[in-house]
Amino acid sequence: MANHRRFFINPSQIDGSDAMIRGETARQITKVLRLREGDVICILDDLGNEHSSLITAVSRNEVSVRILGSTSCDREPTIHLTLAICLPKGDKLDLIVQKCAELGISKYVIVDSERVVTRPDSARAVEKIERWRRIASEAVEQCGGARVPEVAGIVGFPDLADEIAQNDLALIAWEEEKSVGLKQALKENASAKSVMLIVGPEGGLTESEVELAKSAGAKCVSLGRRVLRAETAAIAACAMILYELGDEL
Ligand code: SAM
Repeated sequence: MANHRRFFINPSQIDGSDAMIRGETARQITKVLRLREGDVICILDDLGNEHSSLITAVSRNEVSVRILGSTSCDREPTIHLTLAICLPKGDKLDLIVQKCAELGISKYVIVDSERVVTRPDSARAVEKIERWRRIASEAVEQCGGARVPEVAGIVGFPDLADEIAQNDLALIAWEEEKSVGLKQALKENASAKSVMLIVGPEGGLTESEVELAKSAGAKCVSLGRRVLRAETAAIAACAMILYELGDEL
């Protein structure tokens, strides 16, 4: 089933062995990909299932499909990884969201920390969160995953305390940390099933932010002796966490 074009739909759009696809996804199927009646696609219900589906009717804004067969997707990581990323400048977060979605993270929390340079107003923030949700969904469709990562935020740094408490292991990446590295922290917490990683913006995290995270239970970790860009730190550290604690490789 992995070689058919894949599309996420809301489980409510599935009725028994039939499903109705509408809106942007229908437009992508008909106008962009020019798929027709008789073509087979794979629809994903974001519950971990994939459904091989025959297109039975196409109209302007709707695509009807008949489900031919369903399987549960076995390409989801065995750990739940949350990335709390402080808003970087420009469109760097697009890259971080896309790459970490491909890797298999489960949740993003977008953070407005003290040294964030560009912070969108509330209207713009809604648009950006919607954009990041779309980027994550398209990345998972493309790489054969079956669950779209949640995109939460934009929150203030103090709001992370609750998120930290919900994870078996919470890590805050700090370039000033000189004694504990990511490798050691993961080896000492090999049984963690829910992990959270906090990465700062270009200007870094303040000492008070690091202390707040530590007092909420996060462990400070170094990602090595070089100072990485925020996007490098986020993507590389997520890959290393999934490699070390997941069953991916
Ligand atoms: N404060 C840094 C400086 O003065 O250049 C800039 C911060 S860095 C561009 C962005 C974020 O990546 C940091 O807040 C931290 O979370 C993470 N980071 C980068 N390099 C790191 C390292 N060697 N160890 C731990 N975290 C690192």
